[in-house]
Amino acid sequence: ARRPRIFSGVKPTGHLTLGNYLGAVRRWVEEDQYRADALFSVVDLHALTVDHDPARVRRLTRQAATLLLASGLDPEHCTVYVQSHVDEHTRLSYLMECTAADGEMRRMIQYKEKTAREWERGGSVRLSLLTYPALMAADILAFDTDEVPVGDDQVQHVELARDLAQRFNQRYGPVFTVPRATRPPVAARVMDLQDPLSKMGKSHAETAGIVYLLDETDVVRKKIMRAVTDSGTDVVYDPVQRPGVANLLDVLASCTGDKPEVLAEQFTSYGALKGAVAEAVLELLRPVRARHAELCADPSYVDGVLRAGAERARGLARPRVDAAYAAVGL
Ligand code: ADP
Repeated sequence: ARRPRIFSGVKPTGHLTLGNYLGAVRRWVEEDQYRADALFSVVDLHALTVDHDPARVRRLTRQAATLLLASGLDPEHCTVYVQSHVDEHTRLSYLMECTAADGEMRRMIQYKEKTAREWERGGSVRLSLLTYPALMAADILAFDTDEVPVGDDQVQHVELARDLAQRFNQRYGPVFTVPRATRPPVAARVMDLQDPLSKMGKSHAETAGIVYLLDETDVVRKKIMRAVTDSGTDVVYDPVQRPGVANLLDVLASCTGDKPEVLAEQFTSYGALKGAVAEAVLELLRPVRARHAELCADPSYVDGVLRAGAERARGLARPRVDAAYAAVGL
């Protein structure tokens, strides 16, 4: 049997966060790249769905790619590339727009949340924000993907990609592999440290509630020590009643591999818990930051990885996208 094909990505809309790392990147590094034929992409086209500064997108794309390598993605084992370097994504995206229904796009939770936020600010919403899941479906389906390792917030979009693959296959014949989402056992949704009811999001405005992979040691420690908990004192794992404490326990559990319920019993104060979380997170990030600094000093290495990655991705995607064009009558 062939090894499973895995595809996943990260959008360069901000600096990578602890949420991205625990929810997605870490699994790509530790498991997915070794057990599967895996492709990981910095999906820069998705960064254009909202207002953006071109120079910043370019900088963040480079930084995200460098951080993926610094986190341990190994080009000997997987393919790392930038989405806009591979035209097949946009070619297939159009066919996905012709497969999806307007209503199912409008029902996407992220679309509803982001448009609500935008309208509140009196801004307008780009059409591409609505069609974003069609491009994401194209990203996934172009590679005969079996599994898409993501955090909780992306599961709905992967399910849509699954629906579109099935619908397309029914209409036009068996062109696409039908993918499924996989989620991490803990920390599938890391919450904002200052607002434990909303997710820690890279695309949000920068606040003390968001830990970035490139934050300095003392900044990470300070953010975690100041995390919002509640007025109680006993450490219990209760995501509904005690979301702040549960979030800290989830982060620690993800770092140590223990169960959050079990960890809760080991602490008698919030201060001690926060101290342990801070040290565990710093331990995890230290090698990533060191490797990132090394890679920044060697830009031609990163260029080479991305060039080779784009070439391989193009080669894999082209026959599948050509087959899809032929199937619809073009
Ligand atoms: P963001 O929402 O931070 O801009 P992306 O959409 O680029 O992140 O997502 C990259 C990956 O990180 C996805 O698999 C997503 O599900 C995951 N992810 C993003 N935020 C979190 C979070 N707070 N907790 C867990 N996983 C997350």
